[in-house]
Amino acid sequence: MDALEYTQTHLPEFLADLEAFIRLEAPSHDLPGLRQVARWIVENFAPFGTLSQEETPNGPLLTLKRPGSGPKVLVLCHFDTVHPVGAFGWKLEGDWAFGPGVYDMKGGIVQLLWALRAAEALGLKLPSLEVLFTPDEEVGSLASRAAIEGAGKRNDLVLVLEAPMGNGDLKVARKGVGQYRLTAHGKAAHQGVEPEKGVNAIVELAHQIAQVVALQDWEKGTTLGPNVVQGGTVSNVVPDEAQVLIDLRVWQMGEAKRIEGALRALQPHLPGARLSLEGGINRPPMEPSEASLRLFERARRVGAQLGLNLGAGWVGGGSDGNFTAALGVPTLDGLGLFGADAHQKTERVAVSQIPQRVALLAGLLEDLVADV
Ligand SMILES: [Zn+2]
Repeated sequence: MDALEYTQTHLPEFLADLEAFIRLEAPSHDLPGLRQVARWIVENFAPFGTLSQEETPNGPLLTLKRPGSGPKVLVLCHFDTVHPVGAFGWKLEGDWAFGPGVYDMKGGIVQLLWALRAAEALGLKLPSLEVLFTPDEEVGSLASRAAIEGAGKRNDLVLVLEAPMGNGDLKVARKGVGQYRLTAHGKAAHQGVEPEKGVNAIVELAHQIAQVVALQDWEKGTTLGPNVVQGGTVSNVVPDEAQVLIDLRVWQMGEAKRIEGALRALQPHLPGARLSLEGGINRPPMEPSEASLRLFERARRVGAQLGLNLGAGWVGGGSDGNFTAALGVPTLDGLGLFGADAHQKTERVAVSQIPQRVALLAGLLEDLVADV
């Protein structure tokens, strides 16, 4: 028997685990919910290594360590979801399993559990494993970032159990993400009596937004979204303050630096106006290195033996893999379950493809023992 047959045989138990785990709901910042989910992880992963738990302001952060042979492998998972409690429930319909986080990415945690069970049952050799289960990926990983980077530095490579691309491809590159708040400060005045004494912060901001958008480079994939605007009080007062929230996405760190420099160098357009800028790069880009592409190549070969035709995908959204890739640690992402509609109420995974993805993970881990 191999890992594929093992998971096919145990698919009903896999689904029972998945249902139980998905029914424990935990949106980011819901500390009681996150603790419940953490308890489930502790109970189920306890047979596979040494677990430790750290309380962070964003919820519990769990680490599983399992000795093994060959390279030291870090596995990244997060167990928070974007869905408020009760947004939608667990449901099996046709080949699909629906539920909050089933695809992004609590399903990936159950997949890892069964990859470990398969490895144990079949006597597969595994590399030395360190698994981080984090509570705050969907809200920027502020409380987990240091632990993720620390673990990245003491391991040889990183596997991320986020969802694959929509067509099932793995993820070798992710855009970096920056978030900024640009505020224009003007001077209030009566719009009817003495408008000339005012400095209109909204007019100032409008000029700035045009400049911000002009920094985009579509060819390089650098985008700037001035996506929230606030300003003014009532229509007969010249507004003294206006602000815009800007979303920055880049494939390359060089582009992040170029934009950051240009934003900081913005100059007021209207006499008497002033600008202030807050924010910065939240996740550095995950740029594909030669070593990470070699890691992808191994996963591709393992997948081919399972009947999967895996490509190397590039994706605009960030993950915790961005942090480890930026440290130069080879990082392969998108190793989670196949499905669709992340962050939507139709979020789901394809049940018939679960065994292949479990076997892909188990097979890749086994393959990594062979050589580095
Ligand atoms: Zn995710």
